[in-house]
Amino acid sequence: MAVGNISIATVFYNLGQWVGIVGFINLSILIISGDLSIFLNRFFGLDKVIKFQRKHSLFTAVFILLHPLFFIVSDFSYIKYLINPDFTLLPFTLGIISFYIFIVVMIASHIYKLISYKIWQYIHILTYFLFFFSLYHALNWGSHGNNPLLRIIYGFLFIMIIFSGIYRSISKIRKINSSKFYLKKIKSETEDTFTIVLEGKERLRFKSGQFCFLRLNKNNLHSRHPFTISSSPYEENLSFTIKNTGRFTKTVLELKRGEEILVDGPFGIFNLINSKKNIVFIAGGIGITPFFSMIKDNFQRKEKQNILLLYGTKTKKDLIFKKNLDNIKEKWFKKVYVLTREPISSPQFENTYIDKNLIKKYVKNVNDSLFYVCGPKSMEDNIKKSLIELGVNKKNIIIEDFFW
Ligand SMILES: Cc1cc2nc3c(=O)[nH]c(=O)nc-3n(C[C@H](O)[C@H](O)[C@H](O)COP(=O)(O)OP(=O)(O)OC[C@H]3O[C@@H](n4cnc5c(N)ncnc54)[C@H](O)[C@@H]3O)c2cc1C
Repeated sequence: MAVGNISIATVFYNLGQWVGIVGFINLSILIISGDLSIFLNRFFGLDKVIKFQRKHSLFTAVFILLHPLFFIVSDFSYIKYLINPDFTLLPFTLGIISFYIFIVVMIASHIYKLISYKIWQYIHILTYFLFFFSLYHALNWGSHGNNPLLRIIYGFLFIMIIFSGIYRSISKIRKINSSKFYLKKIKSETEDTFTIVLEGKERLRFKSGQFCFLRLNKNNLHSRHPFTISSSPYEENLSFTIKNTGRFTKTVLELKRGEEILVDGPFGIFNLINSKKNIVFIAGGIGITPFFSMIKDNFQRKEKQNILLLYGTKTKKDLIFKKNLDNIKEKWFKKVYVLTREPISSPQFENTYIDKNLIKKYVKNVNDSLFYVCGPKSMEDNIKKSLIELGVNKKNIIIEDFFW
């Protein structure tokens, strides 16, 4: 079949070439951003980098999957090379091998919680083979391999892959020893939350509000789980306050004194910004952890920031750190406990959801305030909407998402 002078087969063949080029460039961006994630964390926060990678990997996958598909549609006989690669045509066959490696890496990144961290790391090494094989394929088999602009782009990506791979390896080597911590004690906080206090050979340097990935070498729980540091940078021991929600958190609760916990981090940019504005912390449930660290940190600052904490839970007994928060009698700190399921008549308590009216009641000048939000996803979304309706500039709303 032909449209004008061009056959449909030619259209699909050309499309196949271009989706291949776009797929390769996006694949390179994916590998580079993954390798530089620790560096990019400083500017965007690791959560944003990880979210970008998740979305971008799907986008890239579409192009990579369409690359052979369009060729097969243009000429069905190509399918035999996918099933039975011809090794005499090396540049072509390396493209096919890259395609299969890509599928393995994609599957592994979706089932990473089921495989050990080590296996996941080996699978990650495959991405470099994926890159070099597809680069060889693009230069020696691709019809646009001689295009000068593409050669410059490929050259740039090649240098970036080498550079980011070295950066990743150096970051890993430097962290090998510092990531081992040992359980000192476990404190029960509420019915379903507890704090683990850890000690290590070296003190972890972090900013209040940052999080780390925790790993265990037991019960096949190798995947990394993110938790915010609930101690302040000035405390001797490192603490995390954890809600018992599933397999990993339950196993942490059952750890014995002296058992090893691997700590990767710190990451994130959910920190106190030095600003003349009043600070409003809006926390829901376990979302109090970064704020607890920041409030303790504020004690050490020369110029104390005015902090108002609006802390929502279902009932009074769900309030984590209530005793510690009540003990803070400083002028710069005010708090309101917002309970949805327990009416308590005391000026410190409100019986409602944290919404527009409540924010209006306690924050006199919303334009002169910086809002930090951390809690359940639905709460974060509603509060963001309320703040925008109240006229708060988006750049003054800082959200930490516990649900990637
Ligand atoms: C930046 C950040 C900071 C966090 N800080 C805290 C904190 O201070 N205290 C706290 O209790 N929780 C925190 N969390 C949530 C915590 O990571 C999850 O509750 C925990 O990983 C659940 O593991 P699980 O196996 O016990 O539960 P599961 O039943 O396996 O999971 C419960 C939910 O936790 C999330 N989750 C599970 N595994 C992971 C993972 N490997 N990576 C990311 N999310 C996962 C998923 O949304 C899942 O639906 C934080 C999450 C993020 C992203």
